[in-house]
Parts: sequence; C-alpha cells; structure tokens
Amino acid sequence: SSFSGLGLNPLISAHLSSKMGIQKPTSIQRAALPVTLSVSPDVMARDIFIQSQTGSGKTLSFLLPIIQDLLPLSSLSYIDRSLGTLAIIIAPTRELAKQISDVLESLLYLRLRATDESADDSNTVRLTRWLVSGLLIGGGTRTHEKARLRKGLPILVATPGRLLDHLQNTSTFNVSKCRWLVLDEADRLMELGFEESITGILKCLDGHRKLALQAVREGIGKEVGGWDWERRRRTIL
Ligand code: AMP
Repeated sequence: SSFSGLGLNPLISAHLSSKMGIQKPTSIQRAALPVTLSVSPDVMARDIFIQSQTGSGKTLSFLLPIIQDLLPLSSLSYIDRSLGTLAIIIAPTRELAKQISDVLESLLYLRLRATDESADDSNTVRLTRWLVSGLLIGGGTRTHEKARLRKGLPILVATPGRLLDHLQNTSTFNVSKCRWLVLDEADRLMELGFEESITGILKCLDGHRKLALQAVREGIGKEVGGWDWERRRRTIL
C-alpha cells in the first residue's frame, strides 16, 4: 500500500518519497492514517488514541494529518498569522520535542507549485514560509519566545511546563482557533508527573480544542496517571 492510497495528498507523499526517502507506510501508519487523515477537527470528535512502540513511525501518523488539514488555509500566499496557533504537539522531554520539530521542519520544506503548472521555480513556494513551526521547550528566554508567539506560530511543539506558562502569561498567545492537540508519549507525560500541567493546558484550550491525538508507547493498561484512556479513546490502533 502507498501513502496516497491511505488518503495522503499526493503532493505530500511525493515529498516524503523524494526528499525524505520515505516510500512505504509502516504498519502503524497504515492503521492510523486512514483514521487521522479522515477526521475533521471541525466535527467534534472523540479523541484518537495511537499505541505503538517508539521507532515505529508514530510521529508521521500525527504530523501528516495536521499538515494536510492546514494546507487549504493558504495556497501560495502567506498564512494569516493572526489566526494564531492551529496545532499544538506536546512532548514529555526537550529532546523528544526537538526530534518532532526536526521532522516537522523537513515536512514543511515541501514545495507547493502554483496552479498554472509553470515549471518556473519562482512559482513555487515552500510551506515553511507560512506554516511556521516553533519550539517552546524552556531553556531559551521567555522574551524571545513571547516575541515569536506575538508574530504567530501556526504549529507549535512544546514541553508541558513552558507551554502552560505561556498560555497563562503571554497575552498575545492566541489559541482560540487551535484545531489539533497531540500528546506524544502521553504515558510518559503522566509518568514524569505532568498530569497537572496537562490538565491546566486542557483548561486553557477548552472550548477551542477540537481534536486530540494521544500517542503512547506500548504496554500500558487501561488507566495511566489517573486518565481513563478507555473512555477518552476514539480508536485504538
Ligand atoms: P518514529 O517512531 O516516529 O520516531 O519514527 C522512527 C524513524 O522511522 C524516524 O527516523 C522516521 O524518519 C522513520 N520513518 C517513519 N516512517 C517511515 C516510513 N514509512 N518508512 C521509512 N522510515 C520511516
């Protein structure tokens, strides 16, 4: 099977293949993408729960649907950054957040060609120009992060503490149109004691958040960190 066969925009699958050397979906991608690519955050859905081992290709299972969902927001023009942040990915550690951010950056290096089919390079634009991603992981200065948030970061990868800090203290951080929330390695987030931060984050996003994807590693029970995954899940993959 191919990525396009799972519902991925052929433009994105061509980019995966030619620029990232990713040709065939892994088994978790074959299971997850038909679900994650077909749900629309506009329709209030129950959360999606993806369970698979580290290294199995989980990251693309949640990054690809986000990019595909945000693509129509802008064709070849800049995204309206006043939309604020449209997708938030939370990771338990700075290292993991950086890894996700790196994958995201390579995905955003996708070239969109103008619809007139001109081969002229000046008619192509990189997604990076408007689907700007940002990393909020602490360690850097708050002032710098605040400045970036003020300009608008459509896609954000963050660790829980720093994200909650900005949600509570950065008035220009606009999440009113946020469509996606991913909790990557949600089980580890709980193990590391981030339950309170996550609850706080969910409160800040409440009423805005449309769809959460919870990705966890293998081997968790029904409940982790007091979270009733069974009740929250939409699909176990
Ligand atoms: P992940 O489990 O998301 O951390 O991915 C583990 C590694 O597998 C990363 O280096 C990815 O670039 C790579 N990867 C993800 N999906 C595929 C795929 N369909 N084919 C080949 N490599 C992949």
